[in-house]
Amino acid sequence: MLDLETLNQRFETASPVEILGWAWETFGKKLAMVTSFQPTGIVALHMLRDIVPDLPVLTIDTGLLFSDTYALMDHITTEWNLNLIRVCPGQTPAQQAEIYGDDLWLRDPDLCCYLRKVIPLQEALNGYAAWITGLRRDQSEVRRTTPIVSWDLRHENVKVSPFATWTEEMVWAYLRAHQLPYNPLHDQHYASIGCQSCTRAIAPDEGLRAGRWSGTNKAECGIHLQTPR
Ligand code: SF4
Repeated sequence: MLDLETLNQRFETASPVEILGWAWETFGKKLAMVTSFQPTGIVALHMLRDIVPDLPVLTIDTGLLFSDTYALMDHITTEWNLNLIRVCPGQTPAQQAEIYGDDLWLRDPDLCCYLRKVIPLQEALNGYAAWITGLRRDQSEVRRTTPIVSWDLRHENVKVSPFATWTEEMVWAYLRAHQLPYNPLHDQHYASIGCQSCTRAIAPDEGLRAGRWSGTNKAECGIHLQTPR
């Protein structure tokens, strides 16, 4: 039984490398990383190369990602010899359109995310005792209180967010210092990158996740929410 309060106190000032090392020592083969190959995830993958290079790396492939995202994913997987597991929905976008109609993301993005992200990840994480995420407190109001280690009710396992205390600036400083690859869309003012249909570039005065589900009140796809969709 983990003492989450003590662990969170201890990790509040710990480095992500220390937290990742603890996660591997604690959960071993029952640990997975989940990433969408955004900057924080790439930093995590780079650190994990020295800790557990063959850690299962799960990525949700909705079939609706940007071509730049697919290219980056393929590049890093090959270069770093990642143990990548693509988590795919039960239906292709065309099959989904046959049942729910075209462009479900415009009419009911919660249902679309539930079908294409939430359910597939729930199934893929079955059997893992813990998962690593790239959540950071500076990303949005909703994420402002992100704990470093928590019990995940949705997945019934432990969620580890080693970068909760990091900032956007720290992530980019690490990426540049180590000359790591990143999605070229970031150079076109895309701050947070998800499915092509639900992502836009942001203005300088907008929040980091303002370009996701723009024009709706949706802030999260659902994999990090603790409630049914
Ligand atoms: S981000 Fe948009 S297109 Fe992707 S699964 Fe969610 S609603 Fe569907």
